[in-house]
Amino acid sequence: MEFNKAQNIIGLRVLSDNVIWVWEKDKSVVVIDPSVHEPVIRYIDENNLHLEAILQTHHHSDHIGGTKYLIERWPNVKVIASSKEKTRIPFQNVSVEDGETLNILGEEVKIIEVLGHTSSHIAFFLNGKIPVLFIGDTLFSGGCGRIFEGTYKQMYSSLKKIKSLPKNTLIYCAHEYTKANLLWALTLKPKDQDIKTKLLQVEKKLSINELTIPFLLDEEIKINLFLRAKNLKEFTFLRENKDSWV
Ligand code: ZN
Ligand code: FE
Repeated sequence: MEFNKAQNIIGLRVLSDNVIWVWEKDKSVVVIDPSVHEPVIRYIDENNLHLEAILQTHHHSDHIGGTKYLIERWPNVKVIASSKEKTRIPFQNVSVEDGETLNILGEEVKIIEVLGHTSSHIAFFLNGKIPVLFIGDTLFSGGCGRIFEGTYKQMYSSLKKIKSLPKNTLIYCAHEYTKANLLWALTLKPKDQDIKTKLLQVEKKLSINELTIPFLLDEEIKINLFLRAKNLKEFTFLRENKDSWV
């Protein structure tokens, strides 16, 4: 469990490598992509909190699986999801679009569409003192999401959108994939000192059972080959190479 003191964001590790982010403020909480419900309910009950909203980045079951049970327990909870996903995220009651801004827990939250992993994936951006991005399965530390429904071009431009955010943005993704991603990156860039150093840091964190997420955009740009790709061709090569890596 990792704690961001500035924002009160806690990661609950579930399933094999998912992380459910719990953003807490004044006894209210917002959860991002609850793949399962039990650890979320336990955390909220143990800390005497109230569930205010659920943010959904996309429709995959390891992101929405717990939502209907959380709605049973908190019937007035806001479920915020892309207006393009009314069928695949049917329990949404706040439907949002690219560029829209919402007020959540007293903070301004901007919706950024980041297509590629799915045809409607969105991210949630909090432009506070320490900017925060809940990115779902679009970017991982050292990697990016698989392209299931979108095109390489869409994913490449989604990564460009992320790169244009403030450099001190803390990025919260939905899977702890960092180590495997870095091992893959080193197969292509075996002498890359930045990646090697990052791998050592990551191994240290994992050995004491800490998450390697969130990660800082500024640092990620140095070690993530997908963010470093200079053009669509290079990005496409990397994505195909990663897809065939065991
Ligand atoms: Zn997914
Ligand atoms: Fe996922």
